Amino acid sequence: MNGVKHMKWWGWGVDGVAFHHEDKPNFAPFVLEKVGLDLDAPAGRPPAFDEIEVPASRLGDPLRGQLVDALGEKYVVTEDMDRVVHTFGKSVRDLIRMRRSQLKRVPDVVVYPADEEQVRRVVDAVVEADAVLIPFGGGSNIVGALEPLAGEDRQVVSLDLGRLNKVLEIDEEAGLARIQAGALGPALEEQLNRRGWTMGHFPDSFTHSTLGGWIATRSSGMQSDKYGDIGDVTRGLRMVQPGDVLVLNPLPATSTGPSVREMILGSEGRLGVITEAWVNVHRLPEERVVLAYFFPDWSRALRAMQAISKSEAQVIVARVSDPRETAFSFATQKKQKGVKKYATEAIFKLLQRRGWDLDKLCMSFIGFEGSKAHVARQKQLVKELVTEHGGMVVGKGPGALYDQKKFDTPYLRDFLLDRGAAADVSETAAPYSKLEPLYDNTIAAAEEAMAEVGSQGYIMCHLSHNYHSGACLYFTFAIADDSEQVLDKYDHVKRAIQQSFIDSSGTLSHHHGVGLEHAPWMSQDVSPAGERMIGELFDGVDPKGNLNPGKIV
Ligand code: FAD
Repeated sequence: MNGVKHMKWWGWGVDGVAFHHEDKPNFAPFVLEKVGLDLDAPAGRPPAFDEIEVPASRLGDPLRGQLVDALGEKYVVTEDMDRVVHTFGKSVRDLIRMRRSQLKRVPDVVVYPADEEQVRRVVDAVVEADAVLIPFGGGSNIVGALEPLAGEDRQVVSLDLGRLNKVLEIDEEAGLARIQAGALGPALEEQLNRRGWTMGHFPDSFTHSTLGGWIATRSSGMQSDKYGDIGDVTRGLRMVQPGDVLVLNPLPATSTGPSVREMILGSEGRLGVITEAWVNVHRLPEERVVLAYFFPDWSRALRAMQAISKSEAQVIVARVSDPRETAFSFATQKKQKGVKKYATEAIFKLLQRRGWDLDKLCMSFIGFEGSKAHVARQKQLVKELVTEHGGMVVGKGPGALYDQKKFDTPYLRDFLLDRGAAADVSETAAPYSKLEPLYDNTIAAAEEAMAEVGSQGYIMCHLSHNYHSGACLYFTFAIADDSEQVLDKYDHVKRAIQQSFIDSSGTLSHHHGVGLEHAPWMSQDVSPAGERMIGELFDGVDPKGNLNPGKIV
């Protein structure tokens, strides 16, 4: 599409890559036991594109004329495929609606500007025509941040930033890079790596999400323990607003009133279009290693993570799965042969001899990078803390495998949808003092909700981002259901999980943002006064509601 790469219209990622279970002997029995799904039964398939009903474009000639004047005919596209690809993100709700041809409102036109001047002309034309503008990065969000409102009767323009994909300059003295907002993760890392630098921001959606999308949703990457969340990484930016360009020079810190930078972080297109940003960059490390560890139970695993966050140890990631997710990880392992099989069996026998209950086992991945001496020292510090908390070092093998495979896991949702199960995620953050009760409440709330809708389901969790005072807990849940009511049932379970976060002193989202999906909880998350302030900010910048209306508040 105009030289811009997109994910396939009906699912995650690129054609030709898919999740397979034939080489994973424990997967089918696991799925049968946990969600009652028989993987030997014939699988469904996503529909063909011509089976989808696409509402006609409502783009009128006056706005089309102005867009063509600004960008040229080629970059003003009303083809069905382009419009459909730009309608949703990639939540399971989006995937199901796409498969069922539930496209109430799709953008009327997709524009592909080449530079900031063209973005300005598009924004001004859209506002003048009282149309709607929705910036589009990689289309990977899972909160309904992209979709036009169902009843939107104005013309809807999706502005795809995919042609703004360059690293523009690197300030080597400061350790800052100026990067265009439409650059996808691999493209920007490749341009930085060529010159010996990295941004260090690796969300699980890295391959299909953009710098602008990360900023607009307050994203967090798996190495945030070292590099920080995108809010820490982003130091300056440019944002096109109606009739203006907001410019923030890169600064290490500033005390000039409430932070405008912070207002833009997480704004999901409601304040304008981010065209480029200055971000912190770091020299590529000499060594990088991710090791696996085992803990005898979830409580001790959480206490170990907390101890690591408060210690002198410097890790890039400290992640630990609860027993449910650990069991799932083992179920997705490929068939082991020879020495590997023998080594795994030997470890489990050793744990049993030590009195561990393998049903409570928690697997953890902890990463290190830097000079060889630094890495060696950090590994030693962490080993001491892990041992103090009753855990053990497993070694490099599973850690390396996790590192290679982490960007392929999202293909699992399409595989499950083909076989009649809906899976998605919800994540939160809370102080360490509240974390374990939040976990217990959320598992109980989800299981109760699954029972209420009468679907067999499974929920599992890992701790994924670690801070001084608390951490992010990331829940994955699935229900076996492909009835007409699957979305209502999914909503019921998702609502129970979100409400449990709020009731248990957590936030409604640590890094996925708000969109339409989380908006109903905003006043509980930031208080009614906080929600009002956000609304007034949006109204002030965009009084006619032309910029991605309805999202967040
Ligand atoms: P899009 O989905 O295209 O857009 C998201 C929102 O940002 C929309 O409101 C859009 O209008 C706005 N927007 C996009 N670009 C701009 C711009 N230039 N200016 C103004 N507004 C803009 N998120 C994480 O943080 N960490 C993870 O580990 C992670 N893992 C994921 C794994 C999977 C399988 C999936 C499906 C999602 C995951 N996400 C994760 C969520 C998602 O990838 C992030 O929210 C990401 O930041 C979205 O970026 P994008 O470029 O795809 O934005």
